[in-house]
Amino acid sequence: MRALGRLAPALLLSVALVALTTAPAARAGGLLPPAPKSPEAAGYGGAVSSVSAEATDIGIAVLRRGGNAVDAAVAAAAALGVTEPYSSGIGGGGYFVYYDARTHRVSTLDGRETAPATADQSLFLENGKPLAFADAVSSGLSVGTPGTAQTWQQALRLWGTRSFADSLKPAEKLARDGFVVDGTFAQQTAANATRFAAFPATRALFLPGGKPPAVGTLFRNPDLAATYRELEREGTGALYRGDIGRDVTSLVQHPQVDPASGWNARPGKLTTADLAAYQVRRQAPTEVDYRGLDVYSIAPSSSGGTTVGEALNILSHFDLRHASSSQYLHDYLEATRIAFADRNRWVGDPRFVDVPTPGLLSERFADSRACLIKPDSSLTSPLAPADPAHPSPTCSSAGIAAPTTYEGTNTTHLTVADRWGNVVSYTLTIEQTGGSAMVVPGRGFLLNNELTDFDFTPAVAGVPDPNLPGPAKRPRSSMSPTIVLKGGRFDFALGSPGGSTIITTVLQTLLGHVDRSLSLEQAIAAPRASQRNGARSDAEPAFLASPDAAALTAVGEVFAPNPEIGAATGIQSLPDGRLQAAAEPVRRGGGAAAVVWPVGPQ
Ligand code: GLU
Repeated sequence: MRALGRLAPALLLSVALVALTTAPAARAGGLLPPAPKSPEAAGYGGAVSSVSAEATDIGIAVLRRGGNAVDAAVAAAAALGVTEPYSSGIGGGGYFVYYDARTHRVSTLDGRETAPATADQSLFLENGKPLAFADAVSSGLSVGTPGTAQTWQQALRLWGTRSFADSLKPAEKLARDGFVVDGTFAQQTAANATRFAAFPATRALFLPGGKPPAVGTLFRNPDLAATYRELEREGTGALYRGDIGRDVTSLVQHPQVDPASGWNARPGKLTTADLAAYQVRRQAPTEVDYRGLDVYSIAPSSSGGTTVGEALNILSHFDLRHASSSQYLHDYLEATRIAFADRNRWVGDPRFVDVPTPGLLSERFADSRACLIKPDSSLTSPLAPADPAHPSPTCSSAGIAAPTTYEGTNTTHLTVADRWGNVVSYTLTIEQTGGSAMVVPGRGFLLNNELTDFDFTPAVAGVPDPNLPGPAKRPRSSMSPTIVLKGGRFDFALGSPGGSTIITTVLQTLLGHVDRSLSLEQAIAAPRASQRNGARSDAEPAFLASPDAAALTAVGEVFAPNPEIGAATGIQSLPDGRLQAAAEPVRRGGGAAAVVWPVGPQ
């Protein structure tokens, strides 16, 4: 569906009349239509893009009432906790990137989950052997200290104008009143039904009557409404030092499993002291200059900013604008192959490992890596990393290649801009779709399984692995919330879910927009491929069907089909002063882009 801003007023009126007259008919059949959403909108007064119609509407309402981008982002994120409970919520963590139009500065918050203080490298070992991922995921063992509620509070304190309590109110109402189940929600529930059924509190909430909620029915979460209400009254202390926190740690330490399921949910060691000690980190963003644009993203503990940044520096060596389509895609895939080789060797939580962030982002290092790319043949993976402290003058890799380890593929990205020009790019997650599968009884939210983003054992025996578990350590992430400035002013912002494919989705979309003359929404819609230093590159069906795939195969690229990669959202500042909000037209059931005052044409 195109944005309403495109439609003439008379047509708008008839659309509204049709909606009014068809809604009761739909209700008579017992089913409700899902909230309407559009993947693009252009206009003034601020913009929001998310995967959820309800979250976007709540963000727009905050902007309309005079709130700024941070106020709207927190309110919309709290709403995503209601409508996207399998991807986000106060049981998880995320990374918040903020551009302040007055100071022209970009700031970030690292709200990543942390391991318990008692964790060490043996966290996921049992009898000396690493647990299988499937055995670790639905357990107390995988749960990290959640960072999301504290991220919201910090963001509002630092840059917002509304209180934490006010910001949660619309989402509280949404949780109480309910939202209409769409195909994506029903499908995600069905895909997790077996593990959800093993946990009585999760089954009661997400499998009412023993089945996933049907499309077109109303899904209410009164427990989450009450939890939000308690947070409004008492602040985040209720979670980090109070009774919500006690419920969280008690569940982690004693997972409540239905014995009939036979599921062995390993307990974790998260304590109330871990919650009390949790701190969101305020840290400098990563920054690279790409074709005269300043590209800002998140620094470690996420590998997003350094890996997208290194790939951009490498690609600065190539004229992607005038390259053929397949040559451009070849250079893109090769750049991420190289950047992932370096990420896997060097990036982890900087409080625990010496991450060479400036070196990874240096042009000198990129020079020493770009020379590996040949126009007529693909490199072989796994490719060995190089040392940013000693860039090779002979274009050689050093060290031993480390594979890209598994990361879940579900989270959610929210992009917001306000009328003053402030922008938020915020990716938040509970890791796997459905996180640990453990709903906190009586609280209405799922706990994350973020600790499975650690490597369970060293990725390569004998080679230092920056991403092993440690006490209060943050697991390495791939989240890449990005804001791009031109001459110090906002140009565009974007981000995506997708585990390690987040990095490639953000990069491919950015390149499509900057180098291939695509509008942001066209760049988001374009077929995707993803190379992460693996023997094969993931590729979507539409990519595989393109002539480019055949041309790339001819130079040695090997593809593995992947039905869907990422679900990006973004906002662009148009040359005429309007904002263009953009989301997925198809992936994940399509996203919801909106502006405060729609003004076409787009
Ligand atoms: N856990 C992943 C990360 O931090 C995110 C999961 C996802 O995006 O799907 O990178």
